[in-house]
Parts: sequence; structure tokens; C-alpha cells
Amino acid sequence: MIAMMLHGGGDLRRETVPDPAPAPDEAVVRVRACSICGSDLHAYHGKHPRLTFPRVLGHEFAGEIVALGGAVTGFHAGQRVCCDIDLACGRCGPCREGRGNLCEQLKTMGFDRDGAYAEYAAVPDFNLHPLPENVSYDQASAVQVLGISYHAVADRVRPKPGEKVAIIGAGPIGLGAALIARSLGAEVTILDILDYRLALAQRLGIPATMNANEGDLRERALAATGGRGFDKVVECVGGFQERTVADAVRMVKRGGQITIVGTFPENKATIPIAHIKDREIDINFSRGNFQAFAPCLELIASGRIDPERYISHRFPLARAADALRLLEARDVEAHKIVLHPGAGAQGQ
Ligand SMILES: [Zn+2]
Ligand SMILES: [Zn+2]
Repeated sequence: MIAMMLHGGGDLRRETVPDPAPAPDEAVVRVRACSICGSDLHAYHGKHPRLTFPRVLGHEFAGEIVALGGAVTGFHAGQRVCCDIDLACGRCGPCREGRGNLCEQLKTMGFDRDGAYAEYAAVPDFNLHPLPENVSYDQASAVQVLGISYHAVADRVRPKPGEKVAIIGAGPIGLGAALIARSLGAEVTILDILDYRLALAQRLGIPATMNANEGDLRERALAATGGRGFDKVVECVGGFQERTVADAVRMVKRGGQITIVGTFPENKATIPIAHIKDREIDINFSRGNFQAFAPCLELIASGRIDPERYISHRFPLARAADALRLLEARDVEAHKIVLHPGAGAQGQ
């Protein structure tokens, strides 16, 4: 098969490699759509902490089953699926407590083993999720990242109908969090420093937006909430931690709650502990996607969330490096970029 093989930082090569064969508990999936994640960019530059080389990246994907291991039941060749990528050990303390996203030995397709920047990928049966008939492969390639937003909002933020929730960051995870919070009845305000992301959020039905570089965020938060501050603030940026965590503290109400979703490369953020204590502000955290594929597929199948509306670009797999550079450049309005194995090198 054709695979995009990463041999080191910036060294992504189109190669012909053996087709994967399924282990007894695996299916081989013909990849029809694989979305690019921001973490793929770190990996592409050789900066992902767990990455080893050579490696096939790609962890947001959907396709059809073409081969099944002997121990797999309940799936058939030709079946359309999207694929979870987390490989929890199932035996450690967190796994036994039903929190596999906190597994002590968590491994992930696309980083610890080969992913889906390829024509085929081998996937354990417990990570296969059948696609509803009206969900396209492109839409399904958005489920893994939408699931991160879903776990964060449904399990950790837990907004009540009518609560005023601010989402900091309108990238794929923040936008997904806003859409899910809205679907749960929250009154959502979304912040970013890129106006085109805020415009996209508005087109998707989140009318309340703030450019985080304009004005005093505490004053604007008070003005937006009748002088109280937001009930809940969700941090979905990660990269600018010294600022975004401080912004969250300034925007939340007394007795409110902050949920940290963004991934922080270092332990740089500080919190004003006395301020938080005096106001009984709760802070919790969210890691990864946990049991979120089924509810996210339902949100898409029912039309409440349509990833087609935030897929900005499509590239043939062979142009994966171009797609990564486009995402990185930030000089075009790139949101979600989908790779298509099997498309001609000139592509769409
Ligand atoms: Zn990702
Ligand atoms: Zn485990």
C-alpha cells in the first residue's frame, strides 16, 4: 500500500509498504478520510514526546473494513466504520476504575503505532464504530476530535440548561466544545484571537463571540453576564497557558467553575490560589476522548452538528506535507483539513 512515512522531523516520504495484516482481534480498514490534527504538526516536526520513527501519522479517520482477524465478531467486510485510536491497557488502576483515558500505559495510533496517513490501517475491534448510513467518511473523520470536546463538556464541564459558558479558543476542540455545550442547552460565548475562527463559529450558530485581544476581558465578561461573570469557563487553547488560564480566572463568576481542556507542553501556568479559594472557584481538567464516539456519531447523524461545515480543505494523501504546512502557516482560513488516500496526486 501507499503510506506517508515520517522518518524524522520534517522528513515525510510517500512509500510503498506491505499492507497491514489483521491480528486476531483486529480489522484492517481501508482509509477513506483522515483529518489532520494540530498534534500531527508537532509530530511532523519531530516534537511529539512519544513518537518513534519511522511512523505513519494519522489518528482521525474513517473507512471501510476489508479484512477481519479470526477472533473478531459483530463486524463484516465492507462495513463503514470510524475508528477510535486510544489503546488503554485494560488492567491498570484507572482502567479498572472505568477511566481508560487515564490509563498508566495509554498508547495511541498515529504516535505509538502506525496510524492512517495510509491506504490501510489495522484497528483493534474495540475501537471500531459503525457509521450511521447518513454520516459520510469526511464527517466521520471529525469524530475523534469532536469526542475530545464531548468528553470535556458532557463529562467534566457538565453545563446546565441556561448556564452562561465561555469557551476560550475556537480551534477544532473549542468550536466542538461550543457546539456540544449549546446542544446541552448552555448559553455559549466563544473567544479567540483570530476573527475568521469567530466568524465560522457564528456561521455555525454561536452568535456570541469575543476577540480576546480586544478590551478588558473581565469587564467584557461582566457585561455579557449581568455583572456576575460566566458560570463556567472552558480553556481550549493550551499553547498560551500563562495567558489563557489567567483569562479564565478573570472571567468566571464567584462560585463558578473552570475546566482546562487545552494541552500544555510545559507546566508554566500559575493560578492565583487565594483568589480562587476566596471565591470557591472549582477547577477541573479533561483529558482526551473517552467513550465519546457513539454520542458524537448520534449528534452528527441527527444533524445537530455537521462537520462538513467546518472542513475547510481536502487534499490527496500524497500531499500530506502540503496540507500540514498549510495548517501551520495560518495565513489562510484553515480549520479542519481532510486527507483522501486514493485521490490522485493533483487531488481536489
Ligand atoms: Zn488529535
Ligand atoms: Zn490501563
